[in-house]
Amino acid sequence: MRPVADSRSARAVFLDRDGTIIEDVSYLRDPNEARLLPGAAGAIKRLKEHGFRVIVVTNQSGIARGLLSRNDYRLTERRVDELLDAEDARIDGHYFCPHLPELTGPCDCRKPGVLLFRQAAEQFDIDLNASWWVGDRMRDVLPAEAFGGAGILLLTGAGEHEARDEHASRFAKAGGLAEAVELILREVRSQESGVSRRSPRS
Ligand SMILES: [Mg+2]
Ligand SMILES: [Zn+2]
Repeated sequence: MRPVADSRSARAVFLDRDGTIIEDVSYLRDPNEARLLPGAAGAIKRLKEHGFRVIVVTNQSGIARGLLSRNDYRLTERRVDELLDAEDARIDGHYFCPHLPELTGPCDCRKPGVLLFRQAAEQFDIDLNASWWVGDRMRDVLPAEAFGGAGILLLTGAGEHEARDEHASRFAKAGGLAEAVELILREVRSQESGVSRRSPRS
């Protein structure tokens, strides 16, 4: 049990990477091809200014397919951090699933699996129940429901197609990360003024 004195765990926003923070290049292998999407860095900076943990969780089945190595992935991760740093924005943690069930068997880390979110919650003391999930695919936002958080489906990248999913109506939509962050901050403000459907945790 967590002692009461230590109960101030943080909210997080869990971000997908491809089609959410950077342009979705299939199986991106060359770090120099990473391009930030418009408004993404500013949006992440705003989340940090408001005290959120910002965590990237990404499915990288290109590794299972042999199209890129774990080291390629790590170099791109570093490149994304550099690009964000140049705009004064920072990611707290990066998590990735290198698997593909058809090739490497089932795993609990490939989204919508929840393993990586649990790991991040432990590492960064995150209140999952008060957190957000943002991405351009249903599998990015479905984990929100497993934890009692909220998901916002981006209509960037694959999102326009994904928005036609039969379950998409359960999630808020936004035209990009900047708009999603506006929704989140608006929700937080309304929670703080006590008019929200989501009661803050005591
Ligand atoms: Mg994506
Ligand atoms: Zn996995």
